Amino acid sequence: MGRVLSVASEAVPLVKTGGLADVVGALPAALAAVGWEMRVLIPAYPALRKQAARWPVVWSERDLFGGPATVLSGEVAGTAFLLLDAPHLFDREGGIYAGPDGDWRDNDLRFAGLSWAGAAIARDGLADGWRPDVLHAHDWQAGYAPAYLRYGGSAVPSVITVHNIAFQGFSPAERLTALRLPEAEFHADALEYYGGVSSLKAGLVTADRVTTVSPNYAGELRRPEFGMGLEGVIAARGTDVSGILNGVDEAVWSPEVAEHPYSATRMRGKAKARAAICAEFGLEVPGPLAIIVSRLTDQKGIDLVPAVTPEFIAAGGGVLVLGSGDAALEAQMQLLAQQFPGRVAVRIGYDEALSHRMFAGGDAVLVPSRFEPCGLTQLYGLRFGTLPVVAAVGGLADTVITANPAALAAGIATGIAFHPTEVAPFAVAMQHLTALYADPKLWAQMQRNAMRQSVDWGESAARYAALYAGLTA
Ligand code: ADP
Repeated sequence: MGRVLSVASEAVPLVKTGGLADVVGALPAALAAVGWEMRVLIPAYPALRKQAARWPVVWSERDLFGGPATVLSGEVAGTAFLLLDAPHLFDREGGIYAGPDGDWRDNDLRFAGLSWAGAAIARDGLADGWRPDVLHAHDWQAGYAPAYLRYGGSAVPSVITVHNIAFQGFSPAERLTALRLPEAEFHADALEYYGGVSSLKAGLVTADRVTTVSPNYAGELRRPEFGMGLEGVIAARGTDVSGILNGVDEAVWSPEVAEHPYSATRMRGKAKARAAICAEFGLEVPGPLAIIVSRLTDQKGIDLVPAVTPEFIAAGGGVLVLGSGDAALEAQMQLLAQQFPGRVAVRIGYDEALSHRMFAGGDAVLVPSRFEPCGLTQLYGLRFGTLPVVAAVGGLADTVITANPAALAAGIATGIAFHPTEVAPFAVAMQHLTALYADPKLWAQMQRNAMRQSVDWGESAARYAALYAGLTA
């Protein structure tokens, strides 16, 4: 069995702010099924420190960017975790990336510390004798790990996965030494990025392979409108870059294990879940109930929702929103709920259990993103027969078969995709949703198609396994 060290800032079931955590947390089990043993290195944030108090120390360093650090080893829900306990970097109240005054100002050092520990473990192994064959870094937070390996002269191969290129881990040039980066590599073909350094760029130029979370996003990243400054770096890596779709952890995200269980052939539980969620939020919706479970940010196209809602409501629809993020978008959503009592309800906040009830009880899930590396909520929607209405970008375009006449005639449609991410095409998509929902036979067929579409990790895990195997052969 090959061994992989996965380095990331979040992973379910321990800590999650977005899809990254779902993916990092699901990969170990998925990879075990195809012959790769993965351990996951994440920081020991305060709550996790307590949980790991009795775990054995398997790595330590006296000065990890300004203080002592240890790595604790333990198992949670079948996954082998390595928690980086560096109190000066991670033991603070607040969010994992931001405190009350915005992003932590030493975020570059905090996650350089994580990356340094990852590279050191990959190079030297752990006190318990475990030593990985491959280091797998995720996003900007782990971007320096491949760089430390490469610049330290290690032969351990590395992979970096881009879950979202919008976050790049930028630091001014004067941080170079503090970040333990070699000055000789401060040029445009290596570390230098717009006059400073970027941990994501560092990973992209030093890792042996680059992956991103959907084939379509891999192509988009070569274009300025999606590459966000890194398009040239991605393009220069040529065939080292590939797209591997995220999967769904079906042990967690399946209607068969929902509060009111159902399946493609026995849908009664879904009707119960719908009634329950409508009662919970005081909704009475004769047409389709559209849900949104999302960070409320510009990326997600949430600002387009108010413009398409009145017509959708007039046609019988309802909208239920769970999310948090930009204050202005939160306010817009709350205003909608005030305007359409009984038809629109909004819960500002983060609530995993509620999100499950919504995927079970909703009829459709809206994902009008401006860009979307893979997207998980449309995959949950497919699995739950809660048909996705998506902007045709990134992984959304890869995973939803839109209900155009050809797909309907062939009986393979699983949702509705629109393009570009603007009000007019979104509104047409919502009209289409209302029309499809009004045809119960057609709707039921689309639900069956969606629920039978494979969204599990099987195929993608095999692709990661092939990638690792190619690096260690
Ligand atoms: P991103 O990582 O860009 O936020 P993804 O679609 O890849 O988008 O993943 C988002 C994940 O976070 C999904 O698992 C989604 O259900 C979850 N999520 C987002 N907002 C909330 C919320 N307010 N409450 C519960 N879960 C949420």
